[in-house]
Amino acid sequence: MSGSLIVVGLGPGAPELITPEVTAALAAATDLVGYAPYVARVDAAPDVRRHASDNREEIDRAAFALKLAADGRRVVVVSSGDPGVFAMAAALFEAIESGEPSWRDLDIRVLPGVSAMFAAAARIGAPLGHDFCAINLSDNLKPWTTVEKRLRAAAEADFVIALYNPISKARQWQLEATFALLRGIHPASVPVIFATAVSAPQERIDVVPLGDAQPDRANMRTVVMIGSSQTRIIERAGGTRFVYTPRSVGLLS
Ligand code: SAH
Repeated sequence: MSGSLIVVGLGPGAPELITPEVTAALAAATDLVGYAPYVARVDAAPDVRRHASDNREEIDRAAFALKLAADGRRVVVVSSGDPGVFAMAAALFEAIESGEPSWRDLDIRVLPGVSAMFAAAARIGAPLGHDFCAINLSDNLKPWTTVEKRLRAAAEADFVIALYNPISKARQWQLEATFALLRGIHPASVPVIFATAVSAPQERIDVVPLGDAQPDRANMRTVVMIGSSQTRIIERAGGTRFVYTPRSVGLLS
């Protein structure tokens, strides 16, 4: 039997947000590989082998999955959200590039998923309606000076910014430093969206002006979106609101 390796995105949490293509790949798997909480999210047959690992072992995990596929297994590597956004797909290609030459010729596919920023944006309106970027606030894989440089450039260019991994037990100060940096560039009124556990039962979405944004609104399941100077709020009855960024800017001026 010839093996295969498929990297899939499970979406932000709700089963309805797993694509039919990913569901089919999971149903055909002999082995599931991934970070333990993501592997646990998959409802698989009892004979499917689950290989759950720690979050920090991405390249080792990818190499392990490649070996299984080379042995003829049908391996599915699971990520949350989209597998290409701060997740396993890039780790897999790193392992392929530096690993066994024969791994390059395996049957390898990447299947997209709904990334946290898209699920969060849809809940609140359309904050990503104009140009935007995504920045991983974790400095495990890059120096903080690089993060600062990118934040400054993105805010000066007036992108909406989606922040992944905004905070963790080991990283408490970076989000505060991010808000302080952005306050030096943007008006205090720019909307900041804290979207936590989107599509899960614990979902919570807060919108506050940049001037009042505090890191304690975020946890490890929060994606933070900072508006551009054009991002707007539509107030609704009952205190709810839409946040959106118009599709054009400055065409009439
Ligand atoms: N590949 C994933 C991102 C993995 S990095 C994706 O495309 O969504 C992990 C970070 O994603 C978390 O720290 C958080 O910032 C964000 N995230 C993942 N699931 C989320 C959810 N349900 N709600 C809000 N943010 C989420």
